[in-house]
Amino acid sequence: MAEKDRKDNKKKEKSRRSPALALLLVLLIAAVFFIVSDVPFIKSARDAVKEKLGYESIEPDAEPENGGGSENGSNSSFNGQLNASSLPEWDGNHYVQVNGNVPEFPDDVYERAGLIKDGDGWKTKGNLLGTIDSGKLTPYEYYGSLDELGRCTYAYGCLGRETMPEEGVERGDISSVHPSGWAKAQNWERCHLIAWALSAENANPSNLVTGTHYLNYDGMRPLEEEVEHYIWNTGDHVLYMAKPWFAGDELVARGVQLTALSLEDGGKGISFNVYCFNVTPNAEIDYKTGVVTTEEQASQEARLYVINKRSKVFHYPTCEGAQSMSPYNREEVTATRVELTSQGYTPCGYCEP
Ligand SMILES: [Zn+2]
Repeated sequence: MAEKDRKDNKKKEKSRRSPALALLLVLLIAAVFFIVSDVPFIKSARDAVKEKLGYESIEPDAEPENGGGSENGSNSSFNGQLNASSLPEWDGNHYVQVNGNVPEFPDDVYERAGLIKDGDGWKTKGNLLGTIDSGKLTPYEYYGSLDELGRCTYAYGCLGRETMPEEGVERGDISSVHPSGWAKAQNWERCHLIAWALSAENANPSNLVTGTHYLNYDGMRPLEEEVEHYIWNTGDHVLYMAKPWFAGDELVARGVQLTALSLEDGGKGISFNVYCFNVTPNAEIDYKTGVVTTEEQASQEARLYVINKRSKVFHYPTCEGAQSMSPYNREEVTATRVELTSQGYTPCGYCEP
C-alpha cells in the first residue's frame, strides 16, 4: 500500500512538472512571435514596448538640417506640397523646401532597396528594432519611362559606392540626347536627374532634362555634392529621388524636386526634400518651346530677319540657312525677336539671332 502511494505521488509530481514545461515552451514561442511577427496588432504592441525601452525606429529627421530653402521667401501661397497646377514661383532662392524638408518616398522606393516596413519606419530583413544593416541593402537605380510628350518622369534609387562611377572612369558623352523642350542656342544644359557622380549614368534619356545653368550648377549641384561626400566618407547608403515638375503640357520643367535620406543613420547625415527652380535670373523662359529671352534681347528693336514658314525657324539674313532656304518657305520680315518667338518661331542654332 505504502509502495503504491509513493508511486502515485511520483506520478503526480511528474504530471505537475510537465504543464510547467509546456507553459514555458508556449511563452517562449509567444515571445519569438512577438519579436518577429508582422501581424499589425502585435507589431503596434511591440512598437509600444520599443518606445518604452527607448529604441528609435528609422524615421526621417524632422529638423531641417540641410538645404536651407526659403522659409521666409515670397512663396506665401506655397504650402510645402507640390502640385503641378500651382507650382511655387521663383522667389530669388535656388530652391524651396517641400513637406517641411522632410523626405517622403513611395513604398516602392524603400522596398526595392530591400527594406521592409516596421511600424512607421523601415528596417532590413531579419533585423529587429528598426535597424538597417548595410550588407542587407540592395543598392539600385530606377528610371521612369518618358511620358507621352517625351518628358522625363522620375528617377530614384538606393545610392552608394556601388552605384557610383569607379575611380578613374571618365564621364561619357551625353550630347546625343535632346531632352524635351531642348531649343538650340539658348544656353540650355543637359541636366542629370541623378548626377553622374552618384549614378554613373551617361546618355540615358530618362535621366536628362533641359535645364538652366542656374538649376544644374547653382541649385542641384551643391545638394548632389553633399550626398556624394557623405557616401564617400561613410560608405553608407542614401535613398534618393529626383522628379521634374512640368506645368500642363509644357516641355521644359519648371523645377526639379530632390529628396534624399541617409539610411544607416536614420537621416542624421543626409535629409532633405526641396524643389529647385529651373530659371535664369534676368531672362524669360518659354517653357513650351524652350526659347529663352534675356533682358537685353527683350529690349532689342525691330530688325530684318529671314523666317522659314514651314520649320518656324528664324535667321539673320546673312546666315547660310537663310540664303539656301527654298523660296517657297522663305519670307523676310522686320520684327523684334520677342515678336517672332511669341509667334512660335525659334532662333536658328547656327546664326543664333
Ligand atoms: Zn541661321
